[in-house]
Amino acid sequence: MSSIRKQAYQDVLHRTPKHSEPVTRISEIFGENVFHLEVMREYLPEEAYKSIKEAINTGARIDRRIADQVASAMKDWAISKGATHYTHWFQPLTGATAEKHDAFFKPVGPGRAIERFDGDLLVQQEPDASSFPNGGIRNTFEARGYTAWDPSSPAFVIGRTLCIPTIFISYTGEALDFKMPLLKALHEVDKAAVDVCQYFDKNVNKVIATLGWEQEYFLIDKALYNARPDLQMTGRVLFGHSPAKGQQLDDHYFGSIPERAVAFMREFENEAIRLGIPVTTRHNEVAPNQFECAPIFEECNLANDHNQLLMDLLEKIARKHDFRVLLHEKPFAGLNGSGKHNNWSLSTNTGVNLLAPGKNPKSNLQFLTFFVNTIKAIHDNADLLRAAIASASNDHRLGANEAPPAIISAFIGSQLTKALDDLEENVKAGKMTPEDKTELKLNIGKIPQILLDNTDRNRTSPFAFTGNKFEFRAVGSMANCSQSMIVLNTIMANQLRLFKASVDARIEAGDSKDEAILKELQVLIKESKKIRFEGNGYGDEWVAEAEQRGLSNLKDTPRALAVWERPETIKLFEDLNIFSEREVLARQEIEFESYIMRVQIEARMINDLAQNHIIPAVINYQNKLIKNIQGLNDVLGADAAEASKVQLGMVKEISMHLNKMKALCDEMLEARKVANNIANIGDKATAYCDTVKVFFDQIRYHADKLEMLVDDELWPFPKLREMLFTK
Ligand code: ADP
Ligand code: MG
Repeated sequence: MSSIRKQAYQDVLHRTPKHSEPVTRISEIFGENVFHLEVMREYLPEEAYKSIKEAINTGARIDRRIADQVASAMKDWAISKGATHYTHWFQPLTGATAEKHDAFFKPVGPGRAIERFDGDLLVQQEPDASSFPNGGIRNTFEARGYTAWDPSSPAFVIGRTLCIPTIFISYTGEALDFKMPLLKALHEVDKAAVDVCQYFDKNVNKVIATLGWEQEYFLIDKALYNARPDLQMTGRVLFGHSPAKGQQLDDHYFGSIPERAVAFMREFENEAIRLGIPVTTRHNEVAPNQFECAPIFEECNLANDHNQLLMDLLEKIARKHDFRVLLHEKPFAGLNGSGKHNNWSLSTNTGVNLLAPGKNPKSNLQFLTFFVNTIKAIHDNADLLRAAIASASNDHRLGANEAPPAIISAFIGSQLTKALDDLEENVKAGKMTPEDKTELKLNIGKIPQILLDNTDRNRTSPFAFTGNKFEFRAVGSMANCSQSMIVLNTIMANQLRLFKASVDARIEAGDSKDEAILKELQVLIKESKKIRFEGNGYGDEWVAEAEQRGLSNLKDTPRALAVWERPETIKLFEDLNIFSEREVLARQEIEFESYIMRVQIEARMINDLAQNHIIPAVINYQNKLIKNIQGLNDVLGADAAEASKVQLGMVKEISMHLNKMKALCDEMLEARKVANNIANIGDKATAYCDTVKVFFDQIRYHADKLEMLVDDELWPFPKLREMLFTK
């Protein structure tokens, strides 16, 4: 066996679970490393506390004097937690989080120093950070990048560093991150939803979007991980014959979690809990070594910060347990990929979940209003939602028979389908009689609070209503949730605005409020019907039916990313003041670039592995066969032909696959050279998709055949069986 593979295997066999200090009462450690409102109340003067609370609730500005007080309190608290440094923590467009640490320390004279942190340092910094992707925004004369404090997401201490959540913007005010546009989108959906809520309840003055994500991931032993250059470089396995047993027995799903994995989970969950991330759920997923973790939902911006933080934590803590976490959407072909379901809803300051059916006709009409408007928003902006989840890695997962297809549709369940059909049929044109209205209201009142048959059971839908929230299931496991949350909240804000304008116009024209709402809902239900799909989203029939319905099927990332530059996309973001045209195009460029890079890295890796690892191993084995055949000839003479039949056959078969694999690698290299010369970045991404990536599976086919032909002892990498089943 190749030495690195052998060593890795030995290492894994000798591992034992690494248990950390047990925590008996999780409630006692919850949020202990967070500078949350309760701590602020303790550390801040009354006035400063009130002002920060106001800023969190309304986004009001915090004046300099208050900022100084907050900074000083934050510093004292952080030092009490052992912190020596602070950092502005931000989310550049790489998809990862970024930090640059500075010490609290300031020399004030010979041999004298103080611990310093004031409002200036809290509120704004200039980390430079010029190497982050910016899509050309920072190429102009003023290339500076700034981070600015987001008081709505509390600061926290990790290790010995105080982390302050911030936005990241250019000198000219353009967003260079995910957080700033997310905050804008959340603000817009708040305003638009409050306006619509006013039809039903005058006490509503604030609506927040809620997000509950579910994070899937794989755990692989670090020794096996490091013995696979493809995993190290690309996050997924590029070669490898399927093991005899994969997930077909479903024996991993919800099974008992292996002890080593449990020890890891306990530790990272406790760390997460200390950071205020309310993780509650863990279980084995479908594929071997695949797991899921989910918290209780929170306000969207906070939930997203928490997801980013959790992904960091997963990786850090995994290392302590000699694991590597794979967040890639499709680490292993043939096994389920990983997603990050985004459960989303809207919730009022009065404590009402706007996507939960209510107790009476009035609250149910409010529910239906938000429900139908969501579906209409999805219908009108399906392509944009598709664009929001596009990435080179998610392309391997979407539509791969175990994940939602690339076609966007919405599942709502049979009870709500019936309710919408009723509305569609029974709202009468013209003036409605009191009887008409009573009848309709009766029907609306009949929508039960708990939707029985519903929900969640159709796991093949990319966007499913699950009783009191929508679940966007097509989001990739590696993604920053913001990308889909920016789009979802923006299109919802836009739709609610349009709805409000139409209902107001109807009222102006003489309809009663209820009548106007019902008539407008009827229109929306009709117009958005084709996006609703209750059937099996994994089937080929759906692809054909969707096409007939006129739904788009943007199969790959380059096609999906093209949606960003459509005039209607730019107009939407400009109208709602989320992005300028320049920002939209910059983001698109970054995504194209990232797509090209990822495919390019994989292509290089494939050539490297084939050339430097597989071919030498194959030739080595072929030489053994040839030697054996020669030996048989020496010994058996004329009888050798019969005796060496198998060996001869194998020599030929190996040569055939070897030749084909090498020829395809060479062709792919040529295709890359051609693609590299394309100037337009969108065209280049398309070329990488259509002319380079297409070789991946073909090359792999031959490499995997060779894996089966060559002596197991000589194969250079850990096999999938070893990676997935060695415990
Ligand atoms: P599953 O989809 O795995 O069957 P559940 O349906 O029980 O699991 O819940 C999934 C997620 O939905 C949880 O992370 C939960 O926090 C989230 N969730 C529940 N209610 C809401 C809501 N109103 N807004 C956003 N997320 C929610
Ligand atoms: Mg779910």
